[in-house]
Amino acid sequence: MTLPDSIRSHSEPPPEELVIERLRRTGRIARARWCPSPNFGPRPDGAGISLLVVHNISLPPGQFGGDAIERFFCNCLDASEHPYFETIAGMQVSAHALIRRDGSVIQFVSLLDRAWHAGRSSFRGEQECNDFSIGIELEGTDDIPYTDEQYQSLADVSVCVMAAWPKIRRDRITGHCDIAPGRKTDPGPAFDWNRYQQQLLSLRGDSGEVS
Ligand SMILES: [Zn+2]
Repeated sequence: MTLPDSIRSHSEPPPEELVIERLRRTGRIARARWCPSPNFGPRPDGAGISLLVVHNISLPPGQFGGDAIERFFCNCLDASEHPYFETIAGMQVSAHALIRRDGSVIQFVSLLDRAWHAGRSSFRGEQECNDFSIGIELEGTDDIPYTDEQYQSLADVSVCVMAAWPKIRRDRITGHCDIAPGRKTDPGPAFDWNRYQQQLLSLRGDSGEVS
């Protein structure tokens, strides 16, 4: 419920700031459905949150819908369901959040914690990106265009994350392919980085502080 201005105290911050403050404090994305994964740990002491990593995933690959991704991140995938699942069922991985094809968001790990999404990785010489990054999966493949709803949700979540952790500037948003080259290809050529960056610019209404 939104209070009329006449009732709201003048000292009360506007709702947007409350959302950001709550995100910074709890690590929980307000709009996300919470589906906790056991695959996480604490971030190392002193590791700030300063990088956003975009991924893709679909299970089985190229098939959308269903709850296999959720079960995979929660170590509940039944290997006998699909031949591909046999190759991944024992892996213990996660991401902070998943954006489905319809734009809905599922969160698996608090943004304050260290999710297991990037693996061996390096961003501009900084190793072990899981220590200091947030990992967001888009339900998709490298070659199938992502949906309008996914771009919108990703941009919405990104601007909140950037407001909560200002070290994540537009030039510290990257793809898994860029921090694990030769090993990973996601989010792939289907992901329109220009479109995403333009959405960030229009939502934030600033220069993006690219330096
Ligand atoms: Zn990835």
